[in-house]
Amino acid sequence: MTRFTPHLPFDDDKLHEECGVFGIIGNDSASAHAALGLHALQHRGQEAAGIVSFNGGQFHVQRGLGLVADTFGDPNVIAQLKGHAAIGHNRYATTGETVLRNVQPIFVETVMGGLALAHNGNLTNAHVLRRELVRKGALFQSTLDTEVIVHLVATSTYETLPERLIDALKQVTGAYSLIALTDSALIGVRDPMGVRPLVLGDLQGSPVLASETCAFDILGADFVRDIEPGEMVVAGEAGIESLRPFTPAPERFCVFEYIYFARPDSMVEERNVYDVRKNMGRELARESGVSADIVVPVPDSGVPAALGYAEEAGLPFDLGIIRNHYVGRTFIEPTDHIRHLGVKLKHNANRGQVAGKRVILIDDSIVRGTTSTKIVSMMREAGATEVHMRIASPPNTHSCFYGVDTPSREELLAARMSVDEMATFIGVDSLAFLSVDGLYRAAGQTGGRFSNAPQYCDACLTGDYPIPLVDREGGHDANQLSLLNYHE
Ligand code: AMP
Repeated sequence: MTRFTPHLPFDDDKLHEECGVFGIIGNDSASAHAALGLHALQHRGQEAAGIVSFNGGQFHVQRGLGLVADTFGDPNVIAQLKGHAAIGHNRYATTGETVLRNVQPIFVETVMGGLALAHNGNLTNAHVLRRELVRKGALFQSTLDTEVIVHLVATSTYETLPERLIDALKQVTGAYSLIALTDSALIGVRDPMGVRPLVLGDLQGSPVLASETCAFDILGADFVRDIEPGEMVVAGEAGIESLRPFTPAPERFCVFEYIYFARPDSMVEERNVYDVRKNMGRELARESGVSADIVVPVPDSGVPAALGYAEEAGLPFDLGIIRNHYVGRTFIEPTDHIRHLGVKLKHNANRGQVAGKRVILIDDSIVRGTTSTKIVSMMREAGATEVHMRIASPPNTHSCFYGVDTPSREELLAARMSVDEMATFIGVDSLAFLSVDGLYRAAGQTGGRFSNAPQYCDACLTGDYPIPLVDREGGHDANQLSLLNYHE
């Protein structure tokens, strides 16, 4: 437990990460609630966690690598994070060889007092802004794109921290759901397109902010509403103020939150994630039915869609694969070799259910194809007579630059192969993906893509990037470039 000391020399081979953020004010057990909230949001980031609290006089900072419980499972740590207000952050492990040490919330002392920031999303002009700031003499301590915001706040000429934050955010492009803590307020803000989720709750009169409503459920807090795209809420002594400081833009919530990232029990953008996933399965069954004996989900992410598929197809749903819950997500492993081993560690065929049967396997997405290849051969070894794979989202053909940790395009199976080639590669008898229109229907858009609201960011599936990729267009590959390696 430390009062803030200058940043470690962070290094990172990637700029973007999917994360979970949490904040609470006006509660005597603020940091304990933050730890619980982060625990509920653990699926959004498993590499590191941090909490900054404020007790009226002093900010307290604790951050650590690993799961929330690794750092905040110790009651002594929570006891030292004193105060009536706290914000927290879970960081998602990115791929790569480098040891990752960029841990949020960021905390800085400004002329206006202390400022803690927790960011979910990814800025698309961080390199350009950073170059400008470095030219003016700014000394960066981390590779976090979020640190650009801190420098813009510090050098802003506005009088209050909320005004300075607005001034800073008007200069950035990209996706952000941001929670900030000052000595007088808890602030939540979403980018004008609302790419990442952020929800407002109430715990017996204390305002609470979180990436997803599952963080409210664990505390017994009431869900009030989504923070709207482009909205900033400032919760302080005067109550909750809602500001609309940015030029309005068409809403483009990330559809991949529904496909994979958010927890199924969460409500995001007024929809229950589980319901949307089940709808995806139903749509998939309507679009690409195939004659078979059982529907088997790839656990856990494929379960709701498989239930929807089985229901719509009138086929039995069975757990033909059992998941070992004591291993992390295979996707995050750094090398192919380990990733392959990881899949075996994680899943095993439930032989009795699949032997002699024609199986429809359902997963939410295919990224590199590692999981599906292993699982298909597992099904065949267990005696399945036919293996058909149905994916409850369209082919993932493009990298995300707005905060979901995806590999570079060359590594995405669907960017390199046609559906038929993919079917051969993963060894299935047939393969089909949900259509983009089917996905939109499942997520509440009855007319299909863009026929009406709601509209989503579906760049990873269509290549249609709604927010300009400023750094990338300027030759900076935001997927690869380390900010510390930047040279004039
Ligand atoms: P792959 O094995 O590379 O094809 O990855 C597909 C599996 O990873 C699916 O079972 C998905 O549930 C999961 N997945 C998809 N996107 C992500 C992501 N951004 N981070 C972690 N896991 C993911």
